[in-house]
Amino acid sequence: MNGQLEDIVIVGGGTAGWMTAAALSRLLPAGHRIRLVESDAISTIGVGEATIPSIRAFNHLLGLDENEFMRQTQATFKLGIEFRNWGGEGDNYIHGFGQIGRDQVLAKFYQYWLKLYQLGEADDLGAYSINTLAPRHGKFMRPPDDMPNSPLADIAYAFHFDAGLYAKFLRGVSEAQGVKRIEGRIVNTELRGGDGFIEAVVMENGEKIKGDLFIDCSGLSGLLIEKTLQTGFEDWSALLPADSAIAVPCVSDGSLAPYTRSTAHRSGWQWRIPLQHRTGNGHVFSSKFMSADEAQAILMANLEGEALAEPRLIRFTTGKRKKAWNRNCVAIGLAGGFMEPLESTSIHMVQTAIMRLIALFPDRSFRQADVDMFNAQSDDEYERIRDFLIMHYHVNRRTDSPFWTYCRDMAVPDSVRERIALYQGHGRIFRKGDELFADASWLQIMHGQGLRAQSYHPLVDQRSKDDIAAFVGAVHKTIAACVEAMPSHAEYVAAMCPAPKMAA
Ligand SMILES: Cc1cc2nc3c(=O)[nH]c(=O)nc-3n(C[C@H](O)[C@H](O)[C@H](O)COP(=O)(O)OP(=O)(O)OC[C@H]3O[C@@H](n4cnc5c(N)ncnc54)[C@H](O)[C@@H]3O)c2cc1C
Repeated sequence: MNGQLEDIVIVGGGTAGWMTAAALSRLLPAGHRIRLVESDAISTIGVGEATIPSIRAFNHLLGLDENEFMRQTQATFKLGIEFRNWGGEGDNYIHGFGQIGRDQVLAKFYQYWLKLYQLGEADDLGAYSINTLAPRHGKFMRPPDDMPNSPLADIAYAFHFDAGLYAKFLRGVSEAQGVKRIEGRIVNTELRGGDGFIEAVVMENGEKIKGDLFIDCSGLSGLLIEKTLQTGFEDWSALLPADSAIAVPCVSDGSLAPYTRSTAHRSGWQWRIPLQHRTGNGHVFSSKFMSADEAQAILMANLEGEALAEPRLIRFTTGKRKKAWNRNCVAIGLAGGFMEPLESTSIHMVQTAIMRLIALFPDRSFRQADVDMFNAQSDDEYERIRDFLIMHYHVNRRTDSPFWTYCRDMAVPDSVRERIALYQGHGRIFRKGDELFADASWLQIMHGQGLRAQSYHPLVDQRSKDDIAAFVGAVHKTIAACVEAMPSHAEYVAAMCPAPKMAA
């Protein structure tokens, strides 16, 4: 053996720490000792409630029963995100997960729709996906196994859940798999002579916890990756100017919308996330354009139920560490970087970082090629998601505030400009490598924000207009009939995974 790693120390017990602990303890072969250090005196970020469908694969990997997970975390189902007032005031569209219409061999469905839309003879895009039509009617069901050709089989879903309860649930899973939790505050770190690898973290009581591999899940402070190793941070605030959020839970009215709502305000946007026991809310804003007092007043004026706690201010800097993996330290979660929660991508990025670490799992030699590959893949993932978020802000027609004018006028990366130019011509969209967001997502955001293609793919003209109209119309009709037959989301949750009543 070329020195198998034995001691793995995870620093931090937020969502990232416990997701990492649960996955490593399930997947690594015997012979590894996994310890997680967290301090009850240092709170977790306490937000992070909306996810994207990839979370299902992660839960499956952990062997979790989905209904049980939902009961334990007060979860609801999520089909997508509704964007209100984003492109312009009064605008409304849903970015649904999953596909749009039925793609053809020659061209994607949306190209046929584009032709009709440009002729003024098609419904809005949202009518052609089960993931965007069902939320409009408050409907939800899991895709049935026995109807492979129905649009119902295309239903793609994620969850809203209580992040604190999710971490608690995964702590139970991890401890049952042998992870040892150490409570206490880390006050110092010791580095090895020569290569400067981390040798131990030092606790407040003087205890030293030695390790071969340290996973920094300490949150925004980046205790090991930044404070100790001074890895450096790439600041993207100029491209994504929101740097603050005020969060507050409120009473749920019980209707359980199967989607996250994002409502644009003058200098940011407000989230609404329905859980079983409460509704999560927050106002993400840029402190350069709005004071915290004003942001809080807007949030409180737009709650749909009585507030259940004092509003809490969170400051952040958008960007990422220059290296997510430095020496024998891998940063996962907020310690690695943060982009605002507009598309619920952070927990997904925790998950992909864990899977990347497993794919490139080191031995004691910590081969630089493995480390470099990890960092290259991480950078690529960050940049593609950053571009997707920028698109929401940059393509807007709002005239009510300097914030939206700034976003429209800001210099965006070439990668974003190229996408806009490609779409504006023939409505072309290309997914880059294995980036997270597929063309259906880019389409929904670009069209939803008001960007218009001048034409459509020339191959579409191989079919007559009547033929295309019949095809596109049939897709709409079938999806509408499916949605009609679906149960309401609230009924479905009550039947499948009702959570115990608890104080919010
Ligand atoms: C406003 C906002 C909204 C968000 N919304 C979403 C969302 O809807 N969807 C989504 O996917 N993500 C969202 N996120 C991101 C999500 O909250 C985080 O990605 C996720 O919770 C992971 O956080 P974490 O575990 O990295 O850090 P934290 O939750 O901050 O955990 C840090 C841990 O480190 C420990 N620690 C720190 N220092 C020490 C020390 N010195 N000694 C011992 N222990 C220490 C703490 O005790 C704690 O356990 C949001 C983030 C913000 C800021």
